[in-house]
Amino acid sequence: MDGNALFIQLAYVVAAALFIFGLKGLGSADTARRGNLMSAVGMLVAIIAALLDQGIVDYQFILAGVVVGGLIGAAAARLVQMTSMPEMVALFNGFGGMASLLVGTAALSGDANTFTLITIVLSILIGGVTFTGSLVAWGKLSETISSGAVQFGGQQIVNSLIVLAVVASGVMFCLQPENPQWLLLMIGLSLLFGIMAVIPIGGADMPVVISLLNSYSGLAACAAGFAINNNILIVAGSLVGASGIILTQIMCKAMNRSLSHVLFSGFATVSDAETEVEGEIKPISVEDAYYVLEAASSVAVIPGYGMAVAQAQHVVKELMELLEENGAEVNFGIHPVAGRMPGHMNVLLAEADVPYDQLLEMDDINPRMETVDVAIVIGANDVVNPAAREVESSPIYGMPVINVDMARTVFVLKRSMASGFAGIENPLFYKENTRMLFGDAKESIGGLIREFS
Ligand code: NDP
Repeated sequence: MDGNALFIQLAYVVAAALFIFGLKGLGSADTARRGNLMSAVGMLVAIIAALLDQGIVDYQFILAGVVVGGLIGAAAARLVQMTSMPEMVALFNGFGGMASLLVGTAALSGDANTFTLITIVLSILIGGVTFTGSLVAWGKLSETISSGAVQFGGQQIVNSLIVLAVVASGVMFCLQPENPQWLLLMIGLSLLFGIMAVIPIGGADMPVVISLLNSYSGLAACAAGFAINNNILIVAGSLVGASGIILTQIMCKAMNRSLSHVLFSGFATVSDAETEVEGEIKPISVEDAYYVLEAASSVAVIPGYGMAVAQAQHVVKELMELLEENGAEVNFGIHPVAGRMPGHMNVLLAEADVPYDQLLEMDDINPRMETVDVAIVIGANDVVNPAAREVESSPIYGMPVINVDMARTVFVLKRSMASGFAGIENPLFYKENTRMLFGDAKESIGGLIREFS
């Protein structure tokens, strides 16, 4: 190994270490910024090392790619709303998959050995599935196409046949790499399979699928790394592949859905069941809600998707400060799948400078719930639905939820009696200790702030 090659491999080791420490940093809110920075520095080191690796680069194309990609990325980062982040991530995954497909294709040469051919097949297959699968996921989430599950008779048989054809074309490609028809067939079939695999999955399950596709994009990059013999691509691809699958597992657990259920049965089929509810709705005015809050010494705020829609995080912080000035202890209860992406609530509350130590995870806030005077549910619905504990026939039965109904009083801030993402009735709204504060969350909290002032 000459000096240049040694330097490049050392730089890759440094970059890989920075990625791993960066990921570790992302595990807690206090160290997340530093973790992000470390990973970004790692990526810079990796890019510079790859550019110095003679023989890999064509600087003209790279420069053009940096300019065009940089402009699109900068514009997207400014324009995309927080609530649309899952769609954005879907597109990122898709382009990652396409990049691996192209790298795999470009790695094909006359003297490629069997191992290289297999890694080329894997990067093309996984990359192709990730590309079209992510585009369909993006279309469903952004409602560019219908977000429901598209299912038809014999679908699993059709999909199994496509998988068989994909594998057969991959085998033929390895046997006759000089024959371009197998390469083209393999690319075409993997793109087709990406579409067929994602259309039967319904709206509510899409974020889980996006996390899974994120994992696939990492695996495709890892295979492409083997195909071009690039160590840092192998390491970075494995890290993305592993973290994506861990996140997928966490999301499935928090929604009480198995991965096979997400992949092979449409969400709509489980949400048809009816939940019987008893009791009556008791609306409350802003003024009356204020009197109750004014007397409270411990308050738990449970945010959900509606807080993101109303962009109420800043007024929530203001209300929190007023309650604390009034002598109350205020904590936030964060459900792992509140909102529309993991960490959605943490990001919004961090934007409003709510201190991290007041954000309690579900397992930490639940044991305290019985001592809470008022639980304020802000635009959350499914994640506080007691049917998950009480109604065995409910589609969400068994899903862990935040037990707000165990607090002395519950205020639910929402605009109507509409259901949440899962499309099911919520018995919480009818409980004896629940009061409904109807209206846009930002306006209702604004009203409470005015009462306090
Ligand atoms: P939900 O989607 O269950 O409920 C949101 C509630 O917010 C609605 O009932 C809606 O009622 C209310 N709302 C909407 N806009 C406003 C507004 N401007 N002001 C006040 N209220 C408003 O949200 P949750 O956070 O409780 O649950 C998340 C759901 O998403 C779960 O089902 C979860 O499984 C699913 N999910 C989450 C993922 C994640 O990673 N976070 C991933 C996949 C799925 P109304 O219209 O009456 O105002």
